Amino acid sequence: MTDKNKTFHIYLQDEWLDYEIRELVRLFVDLDELKVTIAADIDKNSPVAKPGLVCDYGVDDGSGRSWLRLNDETIEVTHHSKWQQHPEYKKQAKRKFLKGVYLLMQDFKPTKLPWGTLTGVRPVKLAHQLIQHLKADDLVISTLQDTYAIAEDKARLVTGIAHLQNPILESITENSVSLYIGIPLCPSRCSYCSFISQAVSGKDDPLIAAYLEALLMELKGALAWLNERQWYLDTLYIGGGTPSILTATQIRELMETLSNAWPLSSPREITFEAGRPDTITEEKLKVLKEYQVNRLSINPQTLQPDTLKRVNRCHTVDEFYEAWQLAENLGFQTVNLDLIVGLPGEGEDQLMSTLNAIKPLTPANLTVHALALKRSSTLKTDAVKHQLSDNESENMMNRIYSFAKAQGLIPYYLYRQKEMAGHLENVGFSKPGQEGLYNILMMEEKQTIMGIGAGAVSKLYYPETNRIERKPNVKNIHVYIERMKLHGFDEAGWNKAFSQKS
Ligand code: SF4
Repeated sequence: MTDKNKTFHIYLQDEWLDYEIRELVRLFVDLDELKVTIAADIDKNSPVAKPGLVCDYGVDDGSGRSWLRLNDETIEVTHHSKWQQHPEYKKQAKRKFLKGVYLLMQDFKPTKLPWGTLTGVRPVKLAHQLIQHLKADDLVISTLQDTYAIAEDKARLVTGIAHLQNPILESITENSVSLYIGIPLCPSRCSYCSFISQAVSGKDDPLIAAYLEALLMELKGALAWLNERQWYLDTLYIGGGTPSILTATQIRELMETLSNAWPLSSPREITFEAGRPDTITEEKLKVLKEYQVNRLSINPQTLQPDTLKRVNRCHTVDEFYEAWQLAENLGFQTVNLDLIVGLPGEGEDQLMSTLNAIKPLTPANLTVHALALKRSSTLKTDAVKHQLSDNESENMMNRIYSFAKAQGLIPYYLYRQKEMAGHLENVGFSKPGQEGLYNILMMEEKQTIMGIGAGAVSKLYYPETNRIERKPNVKNIHVYIERMKLHGFDEAGWNKAFSQKS
């Protein structure tokens, strides 16, 4: 076991795998305890500080033999003798190194890691790749378990999700694009929030109008640019923050801008992530309905009044029910409900109480996040202790899976973040046929996504090489507003990217 006062040392011969090994070791020891030393002359016999992990790649040896040593335990990792020359062999070597590090770290500090050596955001993407290469599900599942040390239930989960997503991904057509419009403004800042969103002082806060003005400038430019190139809008997602912080008039202005450029009957899906129930009114929902929004998200995160206060969400349980009822009365096709597992002060009892409370609502979509305590959240910086053990988090997540199944909801998309409770996952459930298309498209990266707004990230998809190029917008809201006033939509940047694409 690690001594809290000790530093954990990692010794590497070069920067290859620096990031991956660091991210993997972090799952076993706290970040502040890590120190990485890169020196070409380090080998498996070098005297190093303890606890210390030495990665000896056997670079000059030519035999394909490499070594990993953690304190006094050394293991040999064998590769193809030409692993350093061939990209595919190098990828295999990488997987073997990471599995070796994982096994040594498990001996050093046994830790339950349902996702094994995977530290990335998109495990379903890996399942898609394996299905394509291996064809048989049994092989996919055993590879996920053996090569990546993923728990069997998770391996089955991502394989099932990949199959469910396949027809949706195959239905993507050329020149289709999805559009994300971000409104990073909220009525208050939740204590666990690590997003760029800024709290406003009320609906009359001048920042809201200033932001909307800038946003519309970028949006108009983007829509004209898309129209000129005859790209068409496949799905549209208006997210936050809290987009329903806008007044009904402001929402109308936004939707009118969109419908002037596009008949809003044409996208397959239009999602409005209303978010905080206290910002939702009948008037606003009527405007959304008028402009053909067919997927709405209402996010209580928990239905425990004490927790809502504790995390500074500033809405009541009743306000959630009222918002839900309004959405039902207006007949939105799909309404999503977001929950978070592991909020401070919540255990299995509170979770079960929340699940029992939402049961009669029979939501068509349920999205569940395992709390991720990032450094920029107040909850983390205030060092409020998050008390749930990994086992408790896992039990709670299992409760969710059982609840969703009983409600006829099937997992349809999944992603991971750093610092997640119980090293778990975020997962979206859906009634069959009502899957949130944008969520799948954004996560699996098979279509160009244009991101509009402060902090929005566009992803340009290159089908020929099956790769994505990211184009992030500036995160600071005030700088974004200034930039839009001066330059508007980044037409030159998109033209450059587009010419490289075609
Ligand atoms: S509603 Fe979401 S974006 Fe807004 S402060 Fe809370 S966690 Fe952050």
